[in-house]
Amino acid sequence: MTDAESTALYGLIGNPVSHSLSPFIMNQAFRRHGTDAIYMAFSVKPEALANAIDGFVAVGAAGFNVTYPFKEAVLKHADILSPDAELIHAVNTVVLNEGKIHGYNTDAPGAAYALEVCARLSLDGKHVFIFGAGGAARAIACGVLQKGAHSVTFCTRSPEKAGEFVERYRTTFSGRVIDCVILQDPDNADGRRRAFERADVVINATPIGMDVVEEFALIENADWISPQQCFFDLVYHPRKTAFLEAAGSRGARTLDGLTLLVSQAAVSFRLWTGQSFDVKHMLEAVESFTQEEPKRRGG
Ligand code: NAP
Repeated sequence: MTDAESTALYGLIGNPVSHSLSPFIMNQAFRRHGTDAIYMAFSVKPEALANAIDGFVAVGAAGFNVTYPFKEAVLKHADILSPDAELIHAVNTVVLNEGKIHGYNTDAPGAAYALEVCARLSLDGKHVFIFGAGGAARAIACGVLQKGAHSVTFCTRSPEKAGEFVERYRTTFSGRVIDCVILQDPDNADGRRRAFERADVVINATPIGMDVVEEFALIENADWISPQQCFFDLVYHPRKTAFLEAAGSRGARTLDGLTLLVSQAAVSFRLWTGQSFDVKHMLEAVESFTQEEPKRRGG
């Protein structure tokens, strides 16, 4: 039995959130640590975002996660932004402290943790190739550059959208190589191939491969894959995507999106409670839970 007034409230706002695994992960972590707290997912209509945030503040909630489609929209509601959230231009974790809204991005350190600890790959001096240039791609780029990656190449169908933040990243990470190639553009095929083949890590930060998104092959030529490379797919439903299957069948190392989901949740949990949970144990718990409830998949 908990005392309703002392139970800390945490939440997730997004749309949709009904399949989210975050309530399972966070409530499991609170239970394991004996923390008197509860985490709930709230589906919020875009026009109700400001009210939803005010509501969290008004009821004295302790914090919340932010998922699609609000990671950028939340920026303007924050009183204080972490340097990472400001650079990435996206917030996925909010800490509420004495009515003040502190915005963070835990996808960046989460991705670095997944690669360095879970996949045992030191990022120092490495070349990274990222499909996509949206919020997740920017966060992952920030995470790997902070860990010393030498170069990041974004492969995107909309290079014009990437121009502004690529310049920002070049200024922040001076001395590193940060550039852009165009997805599936025949005139850009050589540049794409060179960047892909020299990459130590190849990451899918687009929704391509998700069961709800029509698929085309991100890896345009399987001969470009080498067993020395590590492939990381942010999509985790299905857990084994065509991207990871292609890489695995050529002997490359693979890392799935569930590992990022749990790794970034561990960083949020630490921001909120000052405590750590074991990512490996939590992944095992999520795996059993999703086997029991195969329909769950959200962020
Ligand atoms: P976002 O900001 O909407 O960016 C999506 C990126 O993918 C953009 O560069 C977009 O290009 C590109 N894209 C979308 N559909 C495409 C298509 N059909 N063909 C080519 N490019 C396409 O989304 P996000 O927040 O970065 O998330 C990206 C993916 O990562 C999502 O699947 C999300 O669920 C996943 N994710 C997973 C985790 C995790 O914990 N595992 C965490 C964060 C994100 P345009 O700009 O041209 O549209």
